Amino acid sequence: WALQFLPSPLRLDDKARTQKVETRLADLILSGDVLRRVGEVFEQELERGLQEKPSSLQMENTYVPELPNGTEEGVFLALDLGGTNFRVLLLELKAGELVRQNVKQYHISNALRLGTGDELFNFLADCVQDFLQQLGMEDQEFSLGFTFSFPMKQHSISSGELITWTKSFKCSGLEGVDVAALLERCLQARNLDVTVRVLLNDTTGTLVAGAHMHQNVGIGVILGTGSNGCYMERASRVRHWEAAHDSVRDVCVDVEWGAFGDNGCLDFLKTDFDREVDAGSLLATSFTFEKYIGGKYLGSLLTSALSALARAGLFPAAPTPDALQTAHLSLFEEDNCAGEVSRTLTALSEVCPGATITAQDALVAQHVAHVISNRAAQLVSVCIATLLRRMDRAHVGVAVDGSVFKHHPRIAGLMHKYIALLAPQHSFELLGAEDGSGKGSALTAAIAARLAAQYKR
Ligand code: BGC
Ligand code: MG
Repeated sequence: WALQFLPSPLRLDDKARTQKVETRLADLILSGDVLRRVGEVFEQELERGLQEKPSSLQMENTYVPELPNGTEEGVFLALDLGGTNFRVLLLELKAGELVRQNVKQYHISNALRLGTGDELFNFLADCVQDFLQQLGMEDQEFSLGFTFSFPMKQHSISSGELITWTKSFKCSGLEGVDVAALLERCLQARNLDVTVRVLLNDTTGTLVAGAHMHQNVGIGVILGTGSNGCYMERASRVRHWEAAHDSVRDVCVDVEWGAFGDNGCLDFLKTDFDREVDAGSLLATSFTFEKYIGGKYLGSLLTSALSALARAGLFPAAPTPDALQTAHLSLFEEDNCAGEVSRTLTALSEVCPGATITAQDALVAQHVAHVISNRAAQLVSVCIATLLRRMDRAHVGVAVDGSVFKHHPRIAGLMHKYIALLAPQHSFELLGAEDGSGKGSALTAAIAARLAAQYKR
């Protein structure tokens, strides 16, 4: 059992160098026992979060109590904010099927991501106006689903306050503000007749989109720039409710595992590389766990570890700061899987200008990429395995989306292996769920409409 958690070994011609590299990377290697301990801490934090005791896990009630049932109907606008691009979508559902989709992407500049909240939200409203004008629909009435991929304190399915920014956003004046209400005000100021029906996290959208395609989906996961998960929890185990919920059996809870460990409960995992990545990040000392697994940080971890090896004379040169991205990590892993070094060499000569890089050096870089990927896969798997144990259903589909999940050649396979090792009694399936933020948002808006009609009756 224990050996199965080890990454594939490094095999250099020079055995002494192999050993030295492995010693330097040893802190990044987690044993099965350490992972079990992470799982126990996760479970404790999760319980405390649900009970509204101090915890690094938000465990937010999303007020989404039901998954699609195939009757969803209507035309919806959907907004997707969280990554580098902002998307506006128009979606039409007929008997649960998507029959029309218009999408436009808008680039959010650094200045906007780091400016004031008012500027950002006015820009979002300008985009919606531009989008509707292009379609000649600016005079029509719309229900909107707003996918806002940040931690929120939700008061209902359609309202919630930003708790803190994450990833590459840091706008002033928005923490504690109801982002759905603010968006609606900005839209109304442009004479657009748009009502925000649902405010949701991207994990919720992914869960809903996944449940629309497959049966038994109960967990939604994002493994992209950031990372997070949500799952269907028994309503009676959730303490925070601001509405009657007697008839609600299960409800989607947004775990916000990116912040796992922010209270120090995971300090036993932290390596010098992690400390360096955190210190250089936009939002230092927060989102501890996300910095181990999110695509925004994997390239920085790779840089940090290769620089340490360079300082120890085990790698030719430290990479230029910020030159290595998560895409490089995926590329090194791809080469590694294929037993090649050519693309790794080309990439390394670009990020270490002036250095002479050999095929053996390329193997070292590939190994570092693999060790970092393996740890990321293990940590995200601990969370999913813990949720599976908690849900205790015969079979659970796990809907997953995000750039790392989609583009990293090994991550899905590693996750599959580790979840099975950590939750051996539980049957599960990882399902790629495309576009939870778009389709999932429209489906959730339709579910909200159905629920509102039910309550009226
Ligand atoms: C946010 C989550 C989000 C995740 C994936 C994290 O930084 O806090 O709300 O689900 O990124 O986008
Ligand atoms: Mg909470």
